[in-house]
This record gives sequence, C-alpha cells and structure tokens, in this order.
Amino acid sequence: MNVLRGRDLVGDLSLDVDAIVVGTGAGGSIALRELARAGLDVVALEEGAFSTVADFDQREDHMLPRLFQEMGGRATEDMAIRVLQGRGVGGSTVHNTNLCKRTPDAILELWAREHGVEGAGPAEMRPGFEAIERDLSVSLIEPSFRNANNDLLRAGCEALGWRGGPLAHNRVGCAQSGFCELGCAFDAKQNALKIVLPQAVAAGARVYSDVRVERVLFEAGCVTGVQAVALDEAGAPHARVLVRARAIVLAASAVGSAALALASGLPDPHGQLGRRLRLHPGGIVAGTFDRAVEGWHGIPQSYECTEHLSFEPGSDRRVWIVPAFAHPIGAAATMPGFGAAHMAAMRTYPRLAVLTAMVHDETSGEVVVGDDGRPVLRYRMSDADQAQLARGLAACARLLLAAGAREVSIPAIPPRRVRSVAELDALDLSFARPHAVPLTAVHPMGTLRLGEDPRRSVVRSTGEHHQVRGLFVADGSLFPTSLGGPPQISIYAFALHVAPHAVERARG
Ligand SMILES: Cc1cc2nc3c(=O)[nH]c(=O)nc-3n(C[C@H](O)[C@H](O)[C@H](O)COP(=O)(O)OP(=O)(O)OC[C@H]3O[C@@H](n4cnc5c(N)ncnc54)[C@H](O)[C@@H]3O)c2cc1C
Ligand code: SF4
Repeated sequence: MNVLRGRDLVGDLSLDVDAIVVGTGAGGSIALRELARAGLDVVALEEGAFSTVADFDQREDHMLPRLFQEMGGRATEDMAIRVLQGRGVGGSTVHNTNLCKRTPDAILELWAREHGVEGAGPAEMRPGFEAIERDLSVSLIEPSFRNANNDLLRAGCEALGWRGGPLAHNRVGCAQSGFCELGCAFDAKQNALKIVLPQAVAAGARVYSDVRVERVLFEAGCVTGVQAVALDEAGAPHARVLVRARAIVLAASAVGSAALALASGLPDPHGQLGRRLRLHPGGIVAGTFDRAVEGWHGIPQSYECTEHLSFEPGSDRRVWIVPAFAHPIGAAATMPGFGAAHMAAMRTYPRLAVLTAMVHDETSGEVVVGDDGRPVLRYRMSDADQAQLARGLAACARLLLAAGAREVSIPAIPPRRVRSVAELDALDLSFARPHAVPLTAVHPMGTLRLGEDPRRSVVRSTGEHHQVRGLFVADGSLFPTSLGGPPQISIYAFALHVAPHAVERARG
C-alpha cells in the first residue's frame, strides 16, 4: 500500500479535496474506503507512523513506543487506570487481539429506546455487521487453536457450570505466535492496515502518516477544512499542513476525536463535548498451576466467560471475563514484590494462568484538553462499578481455583492470595478499587455520542454534528453507553453506517 509520509514532506502542504478523514483505525479506514469508493477525492491524515510487517519485531521495548499513544504510558489523570490506545496507520487494530463480536441487540435497542438513536437498531445494523465480518474474514477460533491459558478458562467455566464459549476473530494464517498486542509479524491479522486501508487506496484515497490534525476549521456552521502539522521522525512538528474540504470525518478515537473537537472550539451549547467517557476498566487475577501453562504461546484470547454479564442498565452483573497474558516486561511490571521476592514471583511466570475482569462500566468520565494540548482523561470509578470490579476479580479467582490452580493471587497493595474457595469466600474484597489494584483499559468509548436530542448528544444518528454541517464522527466516540464486549466490529460497522451521509455532504 502506498502511504505518503508526513515526515518526508519538504515544505508546507496545502490541499483542496472533497473530504478528509482524521485517523486511520477501525472507524477511519472504513469511512475513507467508502468515500473513495463513491468516487470522491479523499485524504486520511494520521498522526502516527506507517508500519509494515517487517517492523513488527515482537519486542515490547520497540513496539510499545512505536504503536501506542504516549508510548504505552497513557493513563487517566489520577493515574489509576492505564489506557492503551493505538497510534499509527491502522490505529488500534494493528495491535489488538482480534476479538470480534457484534454490538449486542440489547445495547442497540437501549440506544434507540433511551438515547434517541434512530436507524441503528438490530435489523438495520445487521447487513453492516455481515459486510464487515466478510471483509475481515471473521471466524470462530477452533478448539485446537486454544492455548493452555484459554483452555483453563474453559475448564473453570465447565467445572462451575458458568456460561462461556469460544470467540470469533479476524485472523487468517495465524502462526499462533502470541504477539498480537505488538503487531503481527506473520501478516495474519485481517485489520484496517492489511485489508481496509489498501482497499481505500486502491479506490483512489490518499493516506498521510505522521500528520497530526490540530484544528477543525468551520465558518457559518459549515466545515471548511483542517489545520495540521507534519511530524518528523522524533515526533516534532516540521511542516504546516492545511487541507480544505466540504466534509470531515473525525475518527481519531474516543479520546483523540474528543480532544480535537474541544481544541477546535466546536459549538457546544449543551456542554456535551468530551462527556460520558467509558473505558471497560479491567483488573487481573493470576492462578499458579503445578504444570506449565506458558500463556505467552498461542492465540491470547479465544474463550470468554459471560456468566456475570448482563446488558441491562444498572444490572449488578456487568463483568466480562477473558484471559489476559502479558509479555515479560508487562508481567514484571504487574508482579508484586521487590528484589528477591519479585524474582521468585517471576520464576512462576511459566506456570501462571491469568484472567481479566472488564467492567461493562456506567461511570461517566470525561476527556478534556490539558495546558500542553494533550488529551486528559478524567475518570473516577463509581461505587457501583467498583462493586462490579470486586465481583469480577472474585469470579476470576473462583474460575482459576475451579480449573485447578494451586494458588490464586490478586495483584494489589498488598497482594491478596488464596488457596481454596473457603479462603476466597472469607476474603474481604473492599480493597478492590482504583489505586489499590492495577487497572487497564483498552476500549475507550463515548465522548461524542449519537442521538437525535442535541441536549444529550453531540452528533445526530447519521453521525453528523448537531451544529456543524459536514462534520461527522465515525469511531468509538459515537457510543452512548459502554458495550460490554470488544468494540472493533461495532466501530467498523457504525463507520459504515455513517459513511453514506458523509458521502452526500462531500458531494456538496
Ligand atoms: C491492546 C488492545 C487490544 C485490543 N483488543 C481488541 C479486540 O481483541 N477486539 C476488539 O474489538 N477491540 C480490541 N481493542 C480495541 C479496538 O482496537 C479499538 O476499540 C478500535 O480500534 C478503536 O477504533 P477507533 O476507530 O475508535 O480508533 P483507533 O483504531 O484507535 O484509531 C484512531 C487513530 O487516530 C489517530 N489520531 C488520533 N488523534 C489524531 C489527530 N489529532 N490527528 C491525526 N490522527 C490522529 C491515532 O493515531 C489512531 O491511529 C483493543 C485495544 C487495545 C489497545
Ligand atoms: S498469534 Fe497469530 S495473529 Fe497474533 S501475532 Fe501471532 S501470528 Fe499474528
């Protein structure tokens, strides 16, 4: 695929096009492709670098800085939750773990019923989901491809009689190397980078890497273009970029699009911009087994436990459980203890199985822009969500014990260890709260929400901004609530839903 690299620009760049897409992840790639296939002159501007298969060397110290926002160090403002997001051509789809689930019908119905979303019910969205699944070759992971870590989750579910099952993924020709989160060296991921962006480029779209959009420009309630900077290899601005267009699609993620909207001073009469950030925050639990698990081998997440997951708002069952095995640096950073104690803990690494409990959260966070221009994520987990976190960690511990773990450990200050169900039942779980347990989030959502009521949403059901004509959103920002599952298929499909409306505006 031919990508124009902003770092190679000699002098400033000025362009006139029909449409601009900001960001090239799940949402941006689809918007770009659809605009190009409609015969429009469209460019994508992506702040991160362009990587090819040869760049994915499976090293955490190389790949985290290259593929992730803030070199993998993004976190909520209070540092309680690490927030991992992609940065680069292909966005977060480059390093995600390929899980594919459609938006649950119950969530789509909730959005229609309580959030004023029109034209995006289960029947209306189905063709889009089917088309995306075809494009990305989504299929169920066969049991023979399930690694030991995932198989222990299955065993735990079956021993307890809990609801669980295999997951579908977008991968073809997977070598089961286990490095999905660092980019795929075997080109097996059927993602935005490999599939959708090349389709867009083949249809005539241009993709610029290393170009950070700093302002959306608008006049008299209509978009006119964007102001951006080209970044050099070290990430420093080295040239100015101005692109004029009739339609702009924000697809810079729930954090990036909200920050850009705020920095641009978009009209916000009802104080909605950047609000209602959801994260799916997750904590982990590790089980030590007598035999080798070697969870770093094989497909990282191929089985789920949905026993504690309901999509009813306010439910006390809002936990989604999947395996979560870290590479050595990540594992060492989470492993409790110092010095010799830490080394002893790391010696158990090959015999560990690790699960994560992600909360289908109802906490309302916020994205704002800091003094240095960077996005700031404000998120204080509600009491109800903290109770879900505790429930989830306890459920993970129970699953690991049921699967035969000799000891189960919840990383916390201090770490909590149990060896039996009786000890787990006696454990006071009030410690399970932000700052006391390490939390990670990989699914930011919300912030520029869909809906017909401008007092409660930022964009209409078509994805177009309530106050600025020609400005569209096509990424995870759109979702009025959290999903309770992996978001990429929902994002790809909602971008497909928004695209025809952007095409119409771009045609003028
Ligand atoms: C470790 C990890 C594992 C995951 N695993 C899964 C999974 O298995 N299944 C699943 O469904 N989801 C998974 N996800 C989440 C999923 O990948 C994301 O939800 C999805 O890709 C988000 O799509 P998006 O279009 O909203 O944004 P992204 O895909 O994040 O793309 C946004 C792009 O915009 C760019 N950008 C931001 N600001 C600007 C700017 N100002 N100017 C220009 N460009 C900008 C960014 O660099 C980025 O490339 C995972 C995420 C992570 C971090
Ligand atoms: S497990 Fe499969 S998809 Fe993941 S990095 Fe390895 S080969 Fe690629």
